[in-house]
Amino acid sequence: MILVLVSSLTNSMNMQTNFDRYSLICLDRDGVINQDSDAYVKNADEWIPLPGSLEAIATLTKAGKTVMIASNQAGISKGKFTSHDLENMTLKMLDLVNRAGGKIQKIFYCTHAPTEGCRCRKPMPGMLLDAAAEAGVSPQDLIFVGDRETDIEAAIACGALPILVLSGKGQKELDRNPDLADKVEEYGGRVYQDLNAFVEAFLEAFV
Ligand SMILES: [Mg+2]
Repeated sequence: MILVLVSSLTNSMNMQTNFDRYSLICLDRDGVINQDSDAYVKNADEWIPLPGSLEAIATLTKAGKTVMIASNQAGISKGKFTSHDLENMTLKMLDLVNRAGGKIQKIFYCTHAPTEGCRCRKPMPGMLLDAAAEAGVSPQDLIFVGDRETDIEAAIACGALPILVLSGKGQKELDRNPDLADKVEEYGGRVYQDLNAFVEAFLEAFV
């Protein structure tokens, strides 16, 4: 009995330490915060929050965490929507997050086309490296939550903790590549139903 008690105490202390380590939570946007679309999310009207996502961001904010966004938006390069449309989507998102009591510290968008070979388009880790630099933390002390394999690859590429959510394209990605969950866990992460489920588990010190 005593051994079990000591062991569970030690575990919970370790979990607390690790939890504190992650002060910066970066989020993918489409499929994590808002509904994704195969035809691109092209304007503010099409930007629709997923259930619980705004509240989850507010919960992170209230827990003292810094929240940033790292999102590929190649639709601009492809002429699907304009930078003005993206700005309007961003304003709508920030307004809704603020009203829910959350704060997004910084947003990184990669608007390059896949053919441009930039350092920021995920699976490249450029945006996550910039986010870590902005927050003054090591990329190893960053959690990145995404719904695509490319999100997981970007996190792994810079030593961040990868979290896969099954909202958006997450379930499809996992069906396409069943090894993805193992890959996430190999690098210390987990798979969750959605952002809200991750935040609840995270604040109970899952890692
Ligand atoms: Mg996504």
